[in-house]
This record gives sequence, C-alpha cells and structure tokens, in this order.
Amino acid sequence: MEALDLSGVEPDAPLFDPAAFRLTDQEAELTDLARRIGKGRFADRAAGIDRDARFPTENYRDMHAAGLLGICVPEAEGGRGAGFRAYMLTAAEIGRYCGATALTWNMHVCSCLWTGPLSDDLEMGTEDRAVHRQRRSVHYRRILDDGAIYAQPFSEGGAAAAGVVPFATNAARVDGGWRINGKKIFASLSGHADFYGVLCGEVREGERPSRRDTMYIAVPATADGVRVVGDWDPLGMRGTVSRTLLLEDVFVPDDAQLMPRGVYYQAASRWPHMFMTLSPTYMGIAQAAYDFTVAYLRGEVPGLPPVKRRMYPTKQLGVAQMRLMLEQTKALWFQAITEAGPDPSKEQVLRAYMAQYTVMENANEICQLAIRTCGGQSMLKSLPLERLYRDSRCGSLMLPWTAEICLDRVGREALYEPGEKDDD
Ligand SMILES: Cc1cc2nc3c(=O)[nH]c(=O)nc-3n(C[C@H](O)[C@H](O)[C@H](O)COP(=O)(O)OP(=O)(O)OC[C@H]3O[C@@H](n4cnc5c(N)ncnc54)[C@H](O)[C@@H]3O)c2cc1C
Repeated sequence: MEALDLSGVEPDAPLFDPAAFRLTDQEAELTDLARRIGKGRFADRAAGIDRDARFPTENYRDMHAAGLLGICVPEAEGGRGAGFRAYMLTAAEIGRYCGATALTWNMHVCSCLWTGPLSDDLEMGTEDRAVHRQRRSVHYRRILDDGAIYAQPFSEGGAAAAGVVPFATNAARVDGGWRINGKKIFASLSGHADFYGVLCGEVREGERPSRRDTMYIAVPATADGVRVVGDWDPLGMRGTVSRTLLLEDVFVPDDAQLMPRGVYYQAASRWPHMFMTLSPTYMGIAQAAYDFTVAYLRGEVPGLPPVKRRMYPTKQLGVAQMRLMLEQTKALWFQAITEAGPDPSKEQVLRAYMAQYTVMENANEICQLAIRTCGGQSMLKSLPLERLYRDSRCGSLMLPWTAEICLDRVGREALYEPGEKDDD
C-alpha cells in the first residue's frame, strides 16, 4: 500500500487549537493529519458522494493508507493507539470536510474502540481477557493489513437501540460457533463493509432474553444468509448508505465474537460516554458552516466572484450569533469528552447528555443561521451549505442518545436520585 502524500496541503486552522486546549502530542498530530486529508482529499469529493448517495470508498482507501482505519487499535498491535478523546477530536476534524465519511468512520472505529481501550477499562476474568485479546487481534490485523471496514448495525426500529429492551436479533449456540437471525435497519456502510459488527441477544433454552447477555459479533459480509435490501434516498448523510441488513440463519465461528458476552452491557452501564461517538461529525459540520459563512461574507470563497457582504450590520450580527453558539458548543463538548472514562459521576453523565444534545441541535441551528446570513445564493447545490444543513438535521435522530432521549434523562435525573419515587 502506498503512503499518502499530504505534504502539499495547507491545512485549515484547527477546531481545537493544540496549545489553547492543551492537546497531547498525539492529539495534535492526529488532528493535523485529519485536517490535511480532509482538505486535500475529501472536501472536493463530498458533493458527488452526497448527490449520488454513494459510499465514499475512495476516502476509505485514503484513510487506510494514512493509518486512520486503525486509529484506535492499540500501538502494541500496530495501530495508532488513540484513546476516546484523541479519536473524538480527530473525527470532528474529518466532519468538517465530509459528514458521511466521518459518520461511517465512527461505526468502523467503534469496533476497535469498544474492543480496545474501553474493554481494557472493564472487568473480565483472566481467561476471558486472554481469549478476548487473541480474538480482537484477528480483527485488528484485517483492518491494518487488508483495509477491512466494519459496520455497526444495532438499530432494529424498536426500543432495543434506545437501550430499553433486549435486541430481537439473536444468536443461538451451535457446534463451533453461532447461528444468527434478525433484521437491522439503518445499517450504515451496508453493501460496502467487509464485516457487520452486530449487536444481538443470546437465545438460551428456557430463559427470557436479557440485555445483560447482549453479544457483539463480527458477521462477514460474504457469509451465507447475509442480505442488504431496500433503497436509500434520504434527506441527508446520503453517503452513509444505511440500508436494511437481513441475517437469515447466518453461521459464524466462535472467534467472530468481538467481546465476551456481558461486556457490551458492562460498557454501556459503566462507560456511557461511548454513546457520544456520533457527535464529533456534527461538531465538525458546525465549524464548517461557520467557516464557510465568514469566507463567503468576506468574498473569499474560491470560484466565486470576490463580492463582499460583510459590511452590513445584520450580517455581522448573524455571524456573532453563530460564533457564540459555536464556542458554547465547543466548550461544553470538549469538557464532556475530556472527562469520559469508566464509572463517571452522575454530574459527568448529565454533562455528556447535555453536550450530545447541544452539538446535535446547535449544528443544525448554526447551519440554518448560515444560510439566512449568507443569503439566497448560498443555498444553491453548487455550494456546500445546503448539504451541511441537510446533514446536520440527522444528528438529533441517532439512537441511543437522540436529542429527545437526552432531554428526557437530564430532566428526570435532575429531579430524581436513584430509587426515588413519588407517593400518591
Ligand atoms: C444517517 C443515519 C445513519 C444511521 N446509521 C446507523 C448505523 O450505522 N447503525 C445503527 O444501528 N443505526 C443507524 N442509524 C439509526 C439511528 O441510530 C436510529 O436508530 C434511527 O434513526 C431510529 O429511527 P426510528 O424511525 O426507528 O426512530 P424512533 O421511532 O425515534 O425510535 C425507535 C424506537 O426507539 C424508542 N424511542 C425513541 N425515542 C424514545 C424516547 N424518547 N424514549 C424512550 N424510547 C424512545 C421507541 O421504542 C421507538 O419506537 C442511522 C440513522 C441515520 C439518520
């Protein structure tokens, strides 16, 4: 594989300045790489990917060459060894240039983040840990050596993806492995991933399904019984190609298990910030909408006549509103991703919900203000704002932390301590 030459790219200013936000050297290096690859390779492709609602295959090839497919694979296993925050900051930079690439990259990276740095923080028996390490190495090698891409289909159209009931997709124990049946909706990367990291329940004779038994299994796209169905023509995030995945009597061997049974449930309970990983894409979109607006009003958008619009007080006010909202969003999000870790306090979890809500809702609000402030020509499809606007609308809908669910939990948990009830 040829290394990617990005030396000629003049990167944009960072979303989070390394000195001001005291980033680690690793974070500064990864975010610089993301800005270079985003500006040099992804930005010009984004419009075509959106127009044709096609998967950004060429961006994935570039990310493989740049070592970004293995961003969260531990260094000892040949990856970049990024932890949660380093990944989040890097993904936000990618989101500025192609939302669909950043969002699908999240699905892929979770297969390494959950099995790597997160699992290392969780409890596992010695034998389970040894088997887990050996199995995850197989997945890591596929990603690093072959550029394998992992999807992360957990949505089923019901309450399972919201974390309320067990997954209906199920795995039954058979000789040498598992037999999987079920249906996943909105399976981003469908038809393009090499493996689907499926969350499913375990079927056990005479026992009711329990969320505690949730399994996380890598199903090869080429396995018998795997089918992708339905069309894909959505409002935004069109390059994610999130079609429906059917699993019909799919056999997978034992080593397809990405985490031992029970570890996903433990992660969801003890490492709740894991559900914030959809937010960086939208943090990047918010920054992109603001950057475009400033360049447009200054008459500096490449390819457009140098018409200045910055002298009108109402436009200055619009930019001020956008900048305020952007800085408020960045500050809260940075704090929340900085305090992510195992067993956070109640306040930290509430802050994570509020940061998620703020990023998802403000990204759309900032894009909407950008179009109003720039004016009529800015909503033409020849310019990126209208795509950013459509893409930004999708953030609040993503389970398990939709904007509504975040609001529900913040309100309830602010008023009730664990176990408290109201007597009538
Ligand atoms: C662009 C895009 C890409 C996506 N990619 C993926 C992907 O790769 N993998 C994946 O798994 N999913 C993906 N999703 C799906 C996403 O995470 C949600 O599951 C999906 O948007 C839910 O759609 P729905 O119509 O079933 O929603 P809803 O009807 O809103 O939610 C489904 C169910 O969740 C429960 N629920 C919803 N709101 C609440 C609430 N406030 N309180 C309690 N329960 C509630 C209810 O039981 C409801 O029936 C993607 C979505 C989009 C838009």
